[in-house]
Amino acid sequence: MYDVYGVREDFPVLKDVVYLDNSATTQTPIPAVEAMIDYFYRYAGNYGRGAHRLARETTNRYEDARETVARFLNVESSKTVFTKNTTEGINLIANSYPWEVEDHIVTTLLEHHSNLLPWLRLQKMGVDVTVVNPDSKGIIDTSSIENAFTEKTKLVAITQVSNVFGSVQDVKSITKVAHRNGIKALVDGAQSAGHMPINLKDLDCDFFATAGHKGLLGPQGTGVLYVKEPDVLESASVGGGTVSDVSGSNYVLEPSPACFEAGTPNIPGVIGLGRAVEYVENIGISEIEAHDVKLSREAAKRLSELEYVEVYGPEDRTGIVPFNVKGLHPHDVALILDQTRRICVRSGHHCAIPITRFLKVNGTVRASFALYNTREEVDILVNAVSGLKALIS
Ligand code: PLP
Repeated sequence: MYDVYGVREDFPVLKDVVYLDNSATTQTPIPAVEAMIDYFYRYAGNYGRGAHRLARETTNRYEDARETVARFLNVESSKTVFTKNTTEGINLIANSYPWEVEDHIVTTLLEHHSNLLPWLRLQKMGVDVTVVNPDSKGIIDTSSIENAFTEKTKLVAITQVSNVFGSVQDVKSITKVAHRNGIKALVDGAQSAGHMPINLKDLDCDFFATAGHKGLLGPQGTGVLYVKEPDVLESASVGGGTVSDVSGSNYVLEPSPACFEAGTPNIPGVIGLGRAVEYVENIGISEIEAHDVKLSREAAKRLSELEYVEVYGPEDRTGIVPFNVKGLHPHDVALILDQTRRICVRSGHHCAIPITRFLKVNGTVRASFALYNTREEVDILVNAVSGLKALIS
């Protein structure tokens, strides 16, 4: 039996609010916060540098966190890079891959700006980009990706779960057709990691970028990037911590992951993230997925029964429920839900302007669920939205 009330004890902030903005960032459980406090109070030092005891303990704990995250995603720790967020991971690939003029990238209109702008920016260097449309429910058909491939295509970059629709893309079959055509696949896992089981060995993608501060329950300023073949990349950000030797005229980079982690990293954040991932493992990722899915599908169904509410996305959604109340601006809806019932939802274009325009709306209200949300909170949301009827002329 999933003990959601027991889980909530580990998230004190939830006593005061109905927190349904988990796609933006999640709350962090007490054990992860305590792991960060332990770092500051007991052994704070720098990572990878220095022989003294604090530096050694810091380095060991940081590497333990890497082992934990790598185990969780089922990949080698040597290919698991810590970043500050999903965006940094995707930019690292965009800036470190040896692009040539007329290389071609396929991506989709569904993408968060963080998985679109890095590719559009490469157009200035002569790289071509094709953007494939989803259907009206936010699903990308694998064949439409394959049809966009040309002889010059080097990469397909696609999100696993849309932050706008909550739709799940078949990234495994997209990776398969990419590889069949000699093309690499990048998966944006910002909305999938920590919300559903992810086995990167099985998925077989070449790059997987995700956040530490969303489904993985770590602190803000943490992210993870998996790189299957690190030697393909020439690290774009170099400096302290990335080299094994340097002369006045040249340098030799360390192997992965060190070559991708220039400068002092977010040490307490990574240690907190490692503990947060253990927390997710202890609860069970399949249990979390079932819980998120159940609540969000119930919320979507009940909201769509209100005749003045439009709900977007497919019925088989993950934990994301985007909707609009006819005649009301999404920001006004979000503000009223907060002011009247202390409900925290996101409103606007969710850093995905192209797909918002595709929907022909000026934004949506987005309720997004996580392991600590309850059925009672679904009731509170639906009742609060029902109450908005009085405002509609
Ligand atoms: N990709 C998707 C699908 C997202 O939903 C988000 C953030 O919401 C990002 C990328 C960017 O994530 P981050 O804030 O960790 O850089």
